[in-house]
Amino acid sequence: MNTFCGCNNPDIETKEEGMSVVVSCTNCGQSVVTTNTDMILEQNPWLGDDTEYEIYLDNNEIEKKVYIEIMKNFMVITSSNALKLYKNKQRVLIYTGKGQEFYKKCKYLNKENAKYETKPECNYIKST
Ligand SMILES: [Zn+2]
Repeated sequence: MNTFCGCNNPDIETKEEGMSVVVSCTNCGQSVVTTNTDMILEQNPWLGDDTEYEIYLDNNEIEKKVYIEIMKNFMVITSSNALKLYKNKQRVLIYTGKGQEFYKKCKYLNKENAKYETKPECNYIKST
């Protein structure tokens, strides 16, 4: 995922400087300055998006175990309270935020095959 240094570290930091972008590895600190914003945007599509998103988790087609794990990952919640929410069959707001963190949360939900909705709708990542 991180192609400019040797680390197998998916976490990078990006900083816009004029017309170029400085990309740094959060593990080794190596950085590159690039103007190839197409490549950067492809790997880091949240860049330049200051929108604050809400993520709503759907619990209609999800296993109880996965649901509880996700809830505990996103919120400070006990298993028994997560179970109550699961039984409620209601859509729950599990996250509010933006940028790379928002993107990572969505990627995680996609990996878990969890259905969710973002508000507003995000044009570079959505529930799969
Ligand atoms: Zn590195």
